[in-house]
Amino acid sequence: MGVLDGAGPAGGLLVHGYKGVRFQNWAQTYSCNPEMYFQPSSPEEVREVLALARQQKKRVKVVGGGHSPSDIACTDGFMIHLGRMNRLLQVDLEKKQVTVEAGILLADLHPELDKHGLALSNLGAVSDVTVGGVIGSGTHNTGITHGILSTQVVALTLMTANGTILECSESNQEDVFQAARVHLGCLGVILTVTLQCVPRFHLHEVSFPSTLGEVLDHLDEHLHKSEYFRFLWFPHSDHVSVIYQDHTQKAPFSSSSWFWDYAIGYYVLEFLLWVSTFVPGLVGWINRVFFWLLFSRTKESCQVSHRMFTYECRFRQHVQDWAVPREKTKQVLLDLKAALEAQPKLVAHFPVEVRFTRADNILMSPCFQRDSCYLNIIMYRPYGKDVPRLDYWLTYETIMKKAGGRPHWAKAHNCTRKDFEKMYPAFPKFCAIRDKLDPAGMFLNAYLEKVFY
Ligand SMILES: Cc1cc2nc3c(=O)[nH]c(=O)nc-3n(C[C@H](O)[C@H](O)[C@H](O)COP(=O)(O)OP(=O)(O)OC[C@H]3O[C@@H](n4cnc5c(N)ncnc54)[C@H](O)[C@@H]3O)c2cc1C
Repeated sequence: MGVLDGAGPAGGLLVHGYKGVRFQNWAQTYSCNPEMYFQPSSPEEVREVLALARQQKKRVKVVGGGHSPSDIACTDGFMIHLGRMNRLLQVDLEKKQVTVEAGILLADLHPELDKHGLALSNLGAVSDVTVGGVIGSGTHNTGITHGILSTQVVALTLMTANGTILECSESNQEDVFQAARVHLGCLGVILTVTLQCVPRFHLHEVSFPSTLGEVLDHLDEHLHKSEYFRFLWFPHSDHVSVIYQDHTQKAPFSSSSWFWDYAIGYYVLEFLLWVSTFVPGLVGWINRVFFWLLFSRTKESCQVSHRMFTYECRFRQHVQDWAVPREKTKQVLLDLKAALEAQPKLVAHFPVEVRFTRADNILMSPCFQRDSCYLNIIMYRPYGKDVPRLDYWLTYETIMKKAGGRPHWAKAHNCTRKDFEKMYPAFPKFCAIRDKLDPAGMFLNAYLEKVFY
């Protein structure tokens, strides 16, 4: 990696730019070679990079944890990594709010919150992601009384392309705030975020086997029974694993077996998935056997919330994750099941993960103004090998589009501006805000060009 002691606009930069850095996302499915790579440690240094980019007419992309399974964070222009802007700045115990620099990893935030008896009310599946990144892509978990993670944001500061810092909240620059809470990385550099927290809590998880028919017929009951209800469907079968997570006072414990969950779940599964790349017909059998091995008995555990919400994702993978109106849950799952049955050559790895989220008012949130059901489909890459998935992807996208779905921003999709105009009532408003904050398109990249042009 070559270091460039940048000759900046004013004759010398405080922040060094690096040449020859290659960026690759976590799943190793997308990569890029930014012309220059910067790791600023202050807003002034970020401003310098933007000034250099303006002067040299370069595009800029901020990268957080690099976990997005798409090219949303890629650029061949300037890349800014905010790993040095990762401090907890302020704790307001009375309001239970914290202000952090946007480059902080959730994994580093959790212990800080722990110390103050606080926690985030909901989290996605991994914590090696940054606060700026998770709000950028509309990261979500489950719980029909809970919104996507961006709904926990009560204020943020944003540096726009010309170096101005905007302070945004519901009472200040409200339009920009509602745009920036799911910002897609296209409005500027998010510098700080203030998050609404809750008192630290433990979760009790119970997972038990069921069938697709039972869960879909009693969806409302499940949603009412558990605060963080979700379920996993095993395609090419009727099997479902229902997962309830709820607040508890109990001490940590687990009834899971390390041998079954790790040895079988990890090593044997990857090998069998690799074998199935030569014999695709094996996939249905693998799904059923692994349901029987790992999910066919009731399991219970209890943990502090951030450990329970997150888990170790062991496999690199391709994913799609669209949100449909909650009332379409049954239709989309039955349509997907019927499509797999009608086309025996389609192969679908387990699980299809089904989660629920509350409506919000964030302009580009997939849950904008409607309670939603997210359906996450997955195709693993055993030992890094890609498995043909495009027919499955197309079948899924067609079903989700027909049901009024909106794709997860972090995850690869085939939608373009025409689709988003139909999907998002507030799309014109977001575009107007983006045009105003970034008239020269400094924060665009190939992914965003498909969204906006
Ligand atoms: C194993 C795994 C599990 C996952 N689980 C879930 C899940 O449960 N639920 C879910 O919804 N998603 C999930 N995701 C997706 C993940 O939450 C998102 O991709 C999230 O955006 C990753 O955060 P990051 O910090 O890695 O962001 P990056 O991928 O680095 O960036 C995401 C976007 O934000 C922009 N950006 C980042 N920081 C800033 C900033 N400070 N200012 C301006 N722009 C910025 C980037 O330019 C890019 O556009 C998962 C991904 C993986 C790999």
